[in-house]
Amino acid sequence: MKARETLHLLILGGTAEARALADAAHARFVERLRVTTSLAGRTSAPKIPEGALRRGGFGGATGLADYLGAAQVDLVIDATHPFATQITAAAQTACRARNVPLLALARPRWRAQSDDRWIEVADAAEAASILPKLGRRAFLTIGQRGIAAFAPVSGVHFLVRLIEPPAAPLPLRSHEILLGRGPFTLEDERRIMQRHAIEVLIAKDSGGEAIAAKLEAARLLRIPVVMLRRPEHAPGAGAASTEDALRWIAAKLEDP
Ligand code: NAP
Repeated sequence: MKARETLHLLILGGTAEARALADAAHARFVERLRVTTSLAGRTSAPKIPEGALRRGGFGGATGLADYLGAAQVDLVIDATHPFATQITAAAQTACRARNVPLLALARPRWRAQSDDRWIEVADAAEAASILPKLGRRAFLTIGQRGIAAFAPVSGVHFLVRLIEPPAAPLPLRSHEILLGRGPFTLEDERRIMQRHAIEVLIAKDSGGEAIAAKLEAARLLRIPVVMLRRPEHAPGAGAASTEDALRWIAAKLEDP
């Protein structure tokens, strides 16, 4: 990497962790680091981090590699969601091609407690196949992607939580949509599950510092959770927290 007065950090974002990292990096290294956050552009009114912002896809690994060169990016931190596998793979390929250091900011997995009833599944299709045995009223909290896998399910009413209204009608036989953007409190989640007489919760193993309130509510209400397993990513340099990532940036600033 070429030694320069200021380094340019690209954060691949779309998560609360990415935003917190952008804010913290901007505040801590303000004179020596230029921070740009990249968002896929899926939500119309995202929460905006400190620093510069770009929105929209790059056009695969090649497009991202071109961007790294054109924008003179010195460092990349992949702080995308654990289920965002395409952008993570593209970042690995593009950073290797451009010889740009890459760090993945990985959230810790959630761990079930002894009184949790979690049924781990490989994907949404497996979740759909076991659902009718678990309950007739399901709370679907996996975002827009993967909903189509539940289209063949009959005899189950879905409460589908989304951040924004879907662009097209959902392909579910019986459902209602609940719009909302987290974080939610335990009380919020418990109230929703009780009001809608939820019998089973479907969630992704997104992970995080704290257990999600919906999982705590399911535990208290003794509701089973169908948990979509996290995709495996190729190993590489990883950080488990904002502080870890800030230390990595500091080391690069000392010795680019
Ligand atoms: P994905 O499958 O890995 O990515 C699909 C395509 O979206 C990528 O190939 C890329 O387009 C573009 N893209 C994704 N993240 C981008 C970013 N940060 N900046 C610029 N382009 C990006 O990802 P996804 O699952 O659709 O998720 C999209 C975004 O939502 C991610 O940024 C992720 O952090 C966030 N998110 C995802 C989930 C989830 O459950 N998947 C949950 C919460 C938030 P090009 O190929 O054109 O470059």
